[in-house]
Amino acid sequence: MKAMVVEKFGAPLVLRDMPEPQLRGPYDVIVKIHACGVCHTDLHAAHGDWPVKPKLPLIPGHEGVGVVEKVGELVTHLQVGDRVGVPWLHSACGLCDPCLSGWETLCAHQHMTGYSVDGSYAEKVVADGRFVGKIPDALDFAAVSPHFCAGVTTYKAVKVGGAAPDKVVLISGLGGLGHMALQYAKVAGATTIGVDVQEHSLDLAKKLGADEVINAASQDVGKTAQKLGGVDIVIATAVSAKAFRASFDALKPGGKLVIVGLPPEELPIPVFELVLQGKSVIGSIVGTRKDLEETLDLAARGLVKCNYAVEPLEAVNDIFGRMQAGKIEGRMVLQIS
Ligand SMILES: [Zn+2]
Ligand SMILES: [Zn+2]
Repeated sequence: MKAMVVEKFGAPLVLRDMPEPQLRGPYDVIVKIHACGVCHTDLHAAHGDWPVKPKLPLIPGHEGVGVVEKVGELVTHLQVGDRVGVPWLHSACGLCDPCLSGWETLCAHQHMTGYSVDGSYAEKVVADGRFVGKIPDALDFAAVSPHFCAGVTTYKAVKVGGAAPDKVVLISGLGGLGHMALQYAKVAGATTIGVDVQEHSLDLAKKLGADEVINAASQDVGKTAQKLGGVDIVIATAVSAKAFRASFDALKPGGKLVIVGLPPEELPIPVFELVLQGKSVIGSIVGTRKDLEETLDLAARGLVKCNYAVEPLEAVNDIFGRMQAGKIEGRMVLQIS
C-alpha cells in the first residue's frame, strides 16, 4: 500500500510502497483510509522534536477516517463497511487508575497513533477497535477528519476550562485548533475573544462569531483583555512564551489558563500572581472516547465546523513547509482514496 513515511528525523517524508497492516489481536480492525488531516504534532513527530521519540520508520497521521475492511474475532460493535476515524489515542491499558476513572488519555501504557504505532498517512491502518470513533452519517470524510484531533482536543480543553454562559473565554491562536476552540466556547454559551497575529485569522474569528478580537502583533493582549474586564478562561493553542505570558496576564483573579499547545521553551509564569490571584494553569491532552463521541455529535448537528482544504497525500512535505511558515489557515486534509 501507498504511504508517506518518516525514515529519518528532520528529512522529508518519502512515498513508499509499504506492507499492508495486519490484525494483531482479536479487538483490532483494519481501516481503509479515505482522508487524514495534518496536525502540527505530525510535524514534530517527523522532526523528532519531543523528549519521547516516535518509532522509526514512522507513518504519521492521527486524523485518519475511512471504512472498516476487516474486524478481529472479538469485535462486536463494528462491522465491515462501518465509517470510522482513528484518533491519537490508539489504545490504553484499561486497568490503571486514569483508565478506571475515565481518563484513559493519561494512561501511562497508552499507544499513540502516528507516533508509537503507524498512523493514517497511508491507504490502510490497523487500529484497536475499542478506540476508534464511529462517524455520523451526516458527515463526509474530509469534513469530519479534523474533528478526530483538532476538534476533540479543543472540545476537551473548553470542557476542562468550564466554559459557560457567564464566562469569558479567550482563544490564543486561531489556527487549526483555535478556530475550533472558539466555536466550542460559543456552543457553551460563553463570551469569546479571539487572539492571533494574523489579520486573516482574526477575520475568520469574526466570521465565526467572536465577540472581540485582539491582534497580538499590534496590541498588548493582557492590558486589552483587562480593559474589557478580564477573562475567566484562556484556551492556549499559540506556542510562544510571549503568547503564554500575555494569556496569563489576561486572566481575572481565579481564572484558568488551559494549555493545549506545546512550546519549545519553559513557561514564563509569575508565581506571585499565580498564588495571590488564585489563577490556575492546566494542561489538556486530546480527549477521551466519550469526548470524541460528543465532539462528533456536535459536528453532525452542524454546530462546529472545521475550516479545511484538501490536497493529495503526496503534498504533505509541502504542507509541512507552509505550516512552519505559519501560512496555513484552518486545517489541511490529505485525500488518500
Ligand atoms: Zn493532533
Ligand atoms: Zn491505563
